[in-house]
Amino acid sequence: MDFNLTSIGSNKKVEPQHVNVLILGSGPAGLSAALYAARAELEPVVLTGMELGGQVSLTYTVENYPGFPDGVGGNELVELFQKQAERFGAKVEFDTAVEVDLSSRPFHVKTYNNEYLAETLVISTGATPTHLNVPGEKELTGRGVSYCATCDGWFFKDKDVIVVGGGDSAVEEGIFLTRYANSVSIVHRRDTLRAGAVLQSRAMENPKIKFIWNSVVEEVLGEDAVKSVRLKNLETGKTVEQQTDGVFIFIGHHPNTELFEGQLEKDDQGYLVTENWVRTSVPGVFAAGEVADPVFRQVITSAGMGAAAAMQAIHFIQEHSGEQSKNQILVDSKL
Ligand code: NAP
Repeated sequence: MDFNLTSIGSNKKVEPQHVNVLILGSGPAGLSAALYAARAELEPVVLTGMELGGQVSLTYTVENYPGFPDGVGGNELVELFQKQAERFGAKVEFDTAVEVDLSSRPFHVKTYNNEYLAETLVISTGATPTHLNVPGEKELTGRGVSYCATCDGWFFKDKDVIVVGGGDSAVEEGIFLTRYANSVSIVHRRDTLRAGAVLQSRAMENPKIKFIWNSVVEEVLGEDAVKSVRLKNLETGKTVEQQTDGVFIFIGHHPNTELFEGQLEKDDQGYLVTENWVRTSVPGVFAAGEVADPVFRQVITSAGMGAAAAMQAIHFIQEHSGEQSKNQILVDSKL
């Protein structure tokens, strides 16, 4: 891959920064990797991506991360992760990788503001909410259609909203929305929830929540704002129009792996394929968190993967330390 050393948006030449461990993404996986790599005195650099903290920063309360018996705010948890990693020398940069070349080491990574030559790479770019892909959804996003209750719930004070999905996210966010909304209707395509038992009973007991079973949203209707949805009952085939002020969609996520197309092995859903938990198909490139985990997707499992990825990166650097100084000489001689 041919990189010219020009920063995006300007003709100014930038000199690539040589780093031991470059971490893409600042969720629990990325910041835990940063903590471990920093404590090994490898001075890791974390590129935050578009959202510092990733998905957990959009979560109102995290109740299942050990050490916080009363729960902890998603944002607060991210701040604590960051502070702890920085205390040992990690650098957190508000920047996003836009191009990577993994064909040789050090790996070449281009960002909006900089360029890096990384001896090892930890990919913790997370996942993005899946869309329904029905008419009206895209047009009315931000005008009643939302993928984040914590961000947008406040706008639905005393309004009626629907939530789509039957997993932990849909039920948890549905319960959260009852703080503001007059009513929350959870539309699920089956008649059994996928969500865990505790969340299920909390939702069932909540007088503001009702369930619309065996149904899917076929269209979101409205001009400047959401007015209603067209629902189809999958058992009867009948279609009804249901008035609503908001549509919150929580039907899962897809991994953010587009940047690595053709360079790293992925599974049929786009998740990075790893062996030994965090090793990708390219030696020296490790993956942690939801980008490589279609199964567990918890804050604690992502943080654990981040720690493991950093430990593998530390070993890799130790094993290749002779090679590293040779590469460094090559890099230095090019500059
Ligand atoms: P999920 O568990 O994959 O659930 C997605 C839900 O959306 C399922 O109920 C699924 O229906 C439904 N769905 C998928 N595609 C659909 C479509 N096109 N139209 C209509 N419905 C559709 O995703 P999630 O709830 O975001 O959870 C992801 C992971 O994070 C899980 O491992 C979960 O345990 C975890 N999580 C945990 C917590 C917590 O512990 N507090 C909170 C949030 C998330 P089916 O059930 O029919 O497949």
